Order: sequence, then structure tokens, then C-alpha cells
Amino acid sequence: MNRVYNFSAGPSMLPLEVLEKAQAELLCYGDCGMSVMEMSHRTPEFEAILADAEAGLRKLMNIPQNYKVLFLQGGASTQFASVPLNLLSDHKCADYIVSGQFSKKAYLEAKKYGDIAIAASSAGATPTFSTVPETKRSDFRPDADYVHMCFNNTIYGTKFHYIPDTGNIPLVADMSSCIISEPIDVSKFALIYAGAQKNVAPAGLTIVIVREDLVGNARPDTPAMLDYKEMVEAGSMYNTPPCFAIYMAKLVFEWILSIGGLEEMKRRNEKKASLLYDYLDTQNYYTAPVDKKCRSMMNVVFVTGDAELDKKFAKEAAAAGLKNLKGHRSVGGMRASIYNAMPYEGVEALVAFMKKFAAENPKIQA
Ligand code: PMP
Repeated sequence: MNRVYNFSAGPSMLPLEVLEKAQAELLCYGDCGMSVMEMSHRTPEFEAILADAEAGLRKLMNIPQNYKVLFLQGGASTQFASVPLNLLSDHKCADYIVSGQFSKKAYLEAKKYGDIAIAASSAGATPTFSTVPETKRSDFRPDADYVHMCFNNTIYGTKFHYIPDTGNIPLVADMSSCIISEPIDVSKFALIYAGAQKNVAPAGLTIVIVREDLVGNARPDTPAMLDYKEMVEAGSMYNTPPCFAIYMAKLVFEWILSIGGLEEMKRRNEKKASLLYDYLDTQNYYTAPVDKKCRSMMNVVFVTGDAELDKKFAKEAAAAGLKNLKGHRSVGGMRASIYNAMPYEGVEALVAFMKKFAAENPKIQA
């Protein structure tokens, strides 16, 4: 069976080398006579996998020692609640930057727990959320317990081209669709969280990187599963963790380290994104609606301007082995998610298809 180029926004492609390694180890991990899927999490073998996963991520992202790394469940969406439950400690107020659907969901969830304000929003852009808000320190309330942002907006194809200056206010970032795609300075953030199913592992794992001083202040009625302190103290094993996803994450971290770490990952991702954006910028059949300065390197959104043609595009592309290019249902058009595991050849094939489709489907001039 031939593998296709899968442009899904998540779950999405995993590196072939990683899948092959997992396949080779599937029936018997090391000499323990069983698969990681069948292994108790309370065994030395699994404890080593978890420790290696954490060490790999720490090395990749250069995570400072005063940050804890957690491997959790519940998806990034559970963090929409965990963040306010743990961080609304002093003034019970927090500010949100709303730059897309997920940051809006995070804002609405947090509102259940305190005085939550929208400090800045790009909902009013045309098209909506086609840019990210420009923020300055004075946009945030000085007594806010934290500021929340979403670094890469998966649906709209935007990415923050800057790190908001929040002064002393802890900055929390949802990095679900950009984590480990390029180097970032972890110390600029108080907390980073990400669902793993785009750049890291199969679905089921959520990564939280949290500065130590923010652990241990959860409100008393916080469910244990959402309390960072419980999870830190239990070493992410308060209950059964997502063992197989953690194992896959470990393999992905090792793979990125083996190719040269996040510098090399960034070089590859930039090369792929440039190929696609450069093509979009030199033709007039497709439109890329996103503000150029905040174009995502991971999710590239484009439209033909004709809903029927968009539909035809996604259908014919799928038949040609370029899968899941249909845009999010709330945006329409097309979206090519080109995460870490998408090879350059996949983007080359997409651009070739786009050229062919444009030539074969001329638009009727109004
Ligand atoms: N934040 C972002 C930026 C996302 O892209 C997604 C999922 N696509 C989520 C949050 C929600 O993640 P999950 O499905 O893991 O809850």
C-alpha cells in the first residue's frame, strides 16, 4: 500500500522513520517480550520510556531547570480549564488575547472561574482572524494573574510574529500546532501547553511545561486530575498515563535530535512553507487571506474564491494522494497543514497539483 501525503490539521503525519521504529518494536519492546501497549506503567521499562521522553523534550526545547514537564491526558481543551483553576491564584483575574477559535474557547472556559477579560482580539479583521492582534504591555491589567495566548492558530493559519510583552505577568501559550517546529525561548513563557497530535505523537497526550512557582496554587475544588501539583508530585503518573503516545513522543523527540534538533527542524519547515507561500504570491488563481507578517509555518490557508471550485480542488487532490486539504468548516477553502513530519516532496507535489488544477479549471470572469 502506498502512503499518501496527509495534510490533516491533526491528528496528522508522523515521521516515517518513527513509524518504522515503532513497527519494529511493536511486538516486543527491547527484550521484555511485550508491546509498549501491553506494558504496565509501573514497570522499569515504562518508567525509562517516560524519563527518556522528558529528557528528550528538555534537550530539544532547552527547557530551564525551574520548569516542570508534564505528560497529561484530556487534550489541549482540558488545559482551557486547568490553566485558570491553577493560575487564578492572587487576584482571580486574567487577560486573554483572542486570535482564533481555540483562544476564544479558552477564554470562555476560563470565564467560569474568575474575572476574565479580552485584552486584544483579531476577530474584527477581514476576513475574521486573518491576522493576530498587536499588543503592548499597557493592554494588560497590572493585577492579572496571567495572560493567555494561542501562538499558532491552526484554523486560520496565523502565527504570532512576536512574543507579547506582559511585563511581570505570567504568559501562558497554547502551542498545540507549533510546538517543536522551531526553537523558542521557553523562559519567556510561564506555561506552555500543547495537544500532541500534530507535531509530537498520536492523539491522547497533552504536554504541559510549567514554571515551578506556578505549581501548588490551585483552587481547593480543582479536580486532582487537573491540579498541576498532584501531577508533578506523581511524575505524570497520578493514574495510568497515555503510555503508547508517550512512547511515540519519545521516538519523535529522538528523531528530531538525530537530524539536528529544532534549528534543523525550523530550516526544513521554513523551506516547505516558503515553497508554498512563494507560489501563492506569484500567481493570481488562489488567494492566501492571511496577513503576510503573521503567516503560519504549519497551517497554510488558501482559497480559489469559488466554493464549488474549492470543493472540487479538495476532492481531486485527495484522489491524487494529497489528502485532507479541505479548510476548517468555519473558514472554507483549503488548508495545508505541513507539520514537522510532512516531507518537502509532499509540498512539491501539492504545488504541482495546484498549478495543474488552476490550468485545468479556468475561472469565469465576472
Ligand atoms: N488549541 C489549538 C491551537 C488547536 O489546534 C487545537 C486542536 N486542533 C486545540 C487547542 C484543541 O486540542 P485538543 O483536541 O487536544 O483538545
